[in-house]
Amino acid sequence: MIAVFLGPPGSGKGTQAARLAKRFGLLHFDMGRSLREEIASGSKLGEKIRSYTDIGELVPISIIKEIIEKVLEDSSNESIILDGFPRSEEQADLLDDVLIRLGLDLKGVYFFSIGDNAIIDRITNRRYCPVCRKVYNLKSAPPLIDGKCDEDGSELVTRPDDNEDVIANRLDVYRRKTAPILARYRRKGKLTELDATLAIADIEKLLMEHIGLQ
Ligand SMILES: [Zn+2]
Repeated sequence: MIAVFLGPPGSGKGTQAARLAKRFGLLHFDMGRSLREEIASGSKLGEKIRSYTDIGELVPISIIKEIIEKVLEDSSNESIILDGFPRSEEQADLLDDVLIRLGLDLKGVYFFSIGDNAIIDRITNRRYCPVCRKVYNLKSAPPLIDGKCDEDGSELVTRPDDNEDVIANRLDVYRRKTAPILARYRRKGKLTELDATLAIADIEKLLMEHIGLQ
Protein backbone atom coordinates (compact mmCIF):
# COMPACT_ATOMS: atom_id res chain seq x y z
CA MET A 1 0.00 0.00 0.00
CA ILE A 2 1.41 3.36 -1.03
CA ALA A 3 -0.27 6.53 0.24
CA VAL A 4 0.88 10.06 -0.56
CA PHE A 5 0.39 12.86 1.97
CA LEU A 6 0.38 16.15 0.15
CA GLY A 7 0.08 19.70 1.42
CA PRO A 8 1.91 22.95 1.98
CA PRO A 9 4.71 23.13 4.55
CA GLY A 10 3.21 23.32 8.03
CA SER A 11 -0.06 21.60 7.07
CA GLY A 12 0.52 18.82 9.61
CA LYS A 13 1.00 15.98 7.13
CA GLY A 14 4.28 14.93 8.75
CA THR A 15 2.64 14.73 12.17
CA GLN A 16 -0.17 12.54 10.81
CA ALA A 17 2.22 10.33 8.85
CA ALA A 18 4.30 9.76 11.99
CA ARG A 19 1.23 8.93 14.11
CA LEU A 20 -0.25 6.46 11.62
CA ALA A 21 3.13 4.84 10.97
CA LYS A 22 3.61 4.23 14.68
CA ARG A 23 0.06 3.03 15.26
CA PHE A 24 -0.19 0.66 12.28
CA GLY A 25 3.44 -0.30 11.70
CA LEU A 26 3.72 1.51 8.37
CA LEU A 27 6.88 2.95 6.91
CA HIS A 28 6.85 6.76 7.07
CA PHE A 29 9.13 8.07 4.37
CA ASP A 30 9.80 11.78 4.94
CA MET A 31 11.65 13.22 1.94
CA GLY A 32 12.54 16.44 3.76
CA ARG A 33 14.06 14.53 6.64
CA SER A 34 15.99 12.30 4.26
CA LEU A 35 17.46 15.38 2.62
CA ARG A 36 18.27 16.99 5.99
CA GLU A 37 20.04 13.79 7.09
CA GLU A 38 22.16 13.84 3.97
CA ILE A 39 23.06 17.46 4.72
CA ALA A 40 23.90 16.59 8.33
CA SER A 41 26.24 13.81 7.16
CA GLY A 42 28.50 16.51 5.70
CA SER A 43 28.79 14.74 2.33
CA LYS A 44 29.36 16.50 -0.99
CA LEU A 45 25.84 15.50 -1.98
CA GLY A 46 24.56 17.01 1.26
CA GLU A 47 26.29 20.30 0.47
CA LYS A 48 24.64 20.39 -2.92
CA ILE A 49 21.22 19.64 -1.40
CA ARG A 50 21.70 22.39 1.19
CA SER A 51 22.23 25.02 -1.52
CA TYR A 52 18.61 24.41 -2.58
CA THR A 53 16.83 23.74 0.72
CA ASP A 54 18.43 26.75 2.46
CA ILE A 55 16.53 29.05 0.12
CA GLY A 56 13.35 26.95 -0.02
CA GLU A 57 13.85 25.67 -3.58
CA LEU A 58 13.19 22.12 -4.79
CA VAL A 59 16.14 19.73 -4.94
CA PRO A 60 17.07 18.59 -8.51
CA ILE A 61 15.13 15.57 -9.80
CA SER A 62 18.28 13.44 -10.26
CA ILE A 63 18.92 13.49 -6.50
CA ILE A 64 15.25 12.86 -5.66
CA LYS A 65 15.15 9.97 -8.12
CA GLU A 66 18.05 8.18 -6.50
CA ILE A 67 16.52 8.51 -3.02
CA ILE A 68 12.96 7.49 -3.88
CA GLU A 69 13.98 4.52 -6.03
CA LYS A 70 16.05 3.15 -3.20
CA VAL A 71 13.24 3.56 -0.66
CA LEU A 72 10.58 1.90 -2.82
CA GLU A 73 12.86 -0.91 -4.00
CA ASP A 74 14.04 -1.71 -0.47
CA SER A 75 10.54 -1.79 0.95
CA SER A 76 8.38 -3.04 -1.90
CA ASN A 77 6.48 -5.38 0.47
CA GLU A 78 5.68 -2.74 3.02
CA SER A 79 2.91 -0.23 3.43
CA ILE A 80 4.42 3.20 2.95
CA ILE A 81 3.30 6.76 3.55
CA LEU A 82 5.16 9.16 1.27
CA ASP A 83 5.47 12.54 2.99
CA GLY A 84 6.91 15.51 1.10
CA PHE A 85 7.07 13.64 -2.20
CA PRO A 86 6.04 14.21 -4.98
CA ARG A 87 6.37 18.00 -4.95
CA SER A 88 6.16 18.82 -8.68
CA GLU A 89 4.83 17.46 -12.00
CA GLU A 90 8.30 16.15 -12.68
CA GLN A 91 8.39 14.28 -9.37
CA ALA A 92 4.84 12.96 -9.91
CA ASP A 93 5.96 11.56 -13.30
CA LEU A 94 8.90 9.95 -11.53
CA LEU A 95 6.59 8.35 -8.95
CA ASP A 96 4.32 6.98 -11.70
CA ASP A 97 7.32 5.43 -13.45
CA VAL A 98 8.75 3.82 -10.33
CA LEU A 99 5.37 2.43 -9.23
CA ILE A 100 4.76 0.87 -12.64
CA ARG A 101 8.25 -0.58 -12.76
CA LEU A 102 7.90 -2.15 -9.31
CA GLY A 103 4.29 -3.22 -9.85
CA LEU A 104 3.04 -1.14 -6.92
CA ASP A 105 -0.38 0.49 -6.66
CA LEU A 106 -1.08 4.00 -5.43
CA LYS A 107 -3.82 3.73 -2.81
CA GLY A 108 -4.52 7.45 -2.74
CA VAL A 109 -3.28 10.99 -2.37
CA TYR A 110 -4.42 12.76 0.80
CA PHE A 111 -4.33 16.53 0.54
CA PHE A 112 -4.01 18.63 3.72
CA SER A 113 -5.80 21.87 2.92
CA ILE A 114 -4.91 25.02 4.93
CA GLY A 115 -4.63 28.80 4.40
CA ASP A 116 -1.33 30.76 4.26
CA ASN A 117 -1.79 32.70 7.51
CA ALA A 118 -2.39 29.54 9.50
CA ILE A 119 0.72 28.01 7.93
CA ILE A 120 3.02 30.91 8.75
CA ASP A 121 1.68 30.95 12.29
CA ARG A 122 2.33 27.22 12.67
CA ILE A 123 5.80 27.18 11.17
CA THR A 124 7.19 30.15 13.06
CA ASN A 125 6.04 28.45 16.28
CA ARG A 126 7.53 25.10 15.32
CA ARG A 127 10.48 23.69 17.30
CA TYR A 128 12.00 20.28 17.10
CA CYS A 129 14.33 18.03 19.07
CA PRO A 130 17.60 17.39 17.20
CA VAL A 131 18.04 14.08 19.08
CA CYS A 132 14.69 12.21 18.89
CA ARG A 133 13.13 14.53 16.24
CA LYS A 134 9.91 15.07 18.15
CA VAL A 135 8.15 18.17 16.81
CA TYR A 136 6.59 20.80 19.11
CA ASN A 137 4.51 23.90 18.57
CA LEU A 138 5.00 26.69 21.09
CA LYS A 139 1.27 27.51 20.97
CA SER A 140 -0.62 24.28 20.30
CA ALA A 141 1.78 21.58 21.54
CA PRO A 142 4.45 23.16 23.77
CA PRO A 143 7.05 21.11 25.67
CA LEU A 144 6.48 20.59 29.42
CA ILE A 145 9.65 22.55 30.22
CA ASP A 146 10.36 25.68 28.18
CA GLY A 147 12.81 24.95 25.35
CA LYS A 148 13.49 21.31 26.34
CA CYS A 149 12.41 18.03 24.76
CA ASP A 150 9.89 16.06 26.89
CA GLU A 151 11.51 12.76 25.91
CA ASP A 152 15.20 13.41 26.47
CA GLY A 153 15.64 16.97 27.78
CA SER A 154 17.58 18.14 24.69
CA GLU A 155 17.56 21.83 23.76
CA LEU A 156 14.84 22.38 21.13
CA VAL A 157 15.84 24.07 17.88
CA THR A 158 14.20 25.61 14.82
CA ARG A 159 14.84 24.18 11.39
CA PRO A 160 16.99 26.45 9.23
CA ASP A 161 14.23 26.55 6.62
CA ASP A 162 11.58 27.60 9.19
CA ASN A 163 12.24 31.35 9.14
CA GLU A 164 9.73 33.75 7.56
CA ASP A 165 11.67 34.60 4.37
CA VAL A 166 12.34 30.98 3.56
CA ILE A 167 8.75 30.03 4.41
CA ALA A 168 7.46 32.68 2.01
CA ASN A 169 9.60 31.17 -0.74
CA ARG A 170 8.60 27.61 0.18
CA LEU A 171 4.93 28.63 -0.07
CA ASP A 172 5.59 30.26 -3.42
CA VAL A 173 7.34 27.12 -4.69
CA TYR A 174 4.45 25.07 -3.29
CA ARG A 175 1.87 27.16 -5.18
CA ARG A 176 3.78 27.08 -8.45
CA LYS A 177 5.03 23.49 -8.43
CA THR A 178 3.12 21.32 -5.97
CA ALA A 179 -0.45 22.66 -6.12
CA PRO A 180 -0.76 21.88 -9.88
CA ILE A 181 -0.33 18.14 -9.25
CA LEU A 182 -3.57 18.07 -7.24
CA ALA A 183 -5.55 18.28 -10.49
CA ARG A 184 -3.66 15.32 -11.85
CA TYR A 185 -4.61 13.08 -8.93
CA ARG A 186 -8.17 14.44 -8.83
CA ARG A 187 -8.57 13.46 -12.50
CA LYS A 188 -7.39 9.95 -11.68
CA GLY A 189 -9.91 9.72 -8.84
CA LYS A 190 -7.09 9.35 -6.33
CA LEU A 191 -7.41 12.63 -4.43
CA THR A 192 -8.98 13.04 -0.98
CA GLU A 193 -9.04 16.53 0.48
CA LEU A 194 -8.84 17.02 4.26
CA ASP A 195 -9.35 20.15 6.35
CA ALA A 196 -5.91 20.50 7.97
CA THR A 197 -7.22 22.92 10.60
CA LEU A 198 -9.24 20.17 12.32
CA ALA A 199 -7.96 18.63 15.56
CA ILE A 200 -5.12 16.13 15.14
CA ALA A 201 -7.23 13.19 16.39
CA ASP A 202 -10.08 14.04 13.99
CA ILE A 203 -7.78 14.21 10.97
CA GLU A 204 -6.23 10.92 12.01
CA LYS A 205 -9.67 9.30 12.17
CA LEU A 206 -10.57 10.58 8.70
CA LEU A 207 -7.31 9.29 7.27
CA MET A 208 -7.85 5.86 8.82
CA GLU A 209 -11.31 5.68 7.24
CA HIS A 210 -10.11 6.78 3.81
CA ILE A 211 -6.98 4.62 3.72
CA GLY A 212 -8.80 1.66 5.27
CA LEU A 213 -6.64 1.30 8.39
CA GLN A 214 -8.19 -0.26 11.49
ZN1 LIG B 1 14.03 14.59 22.06
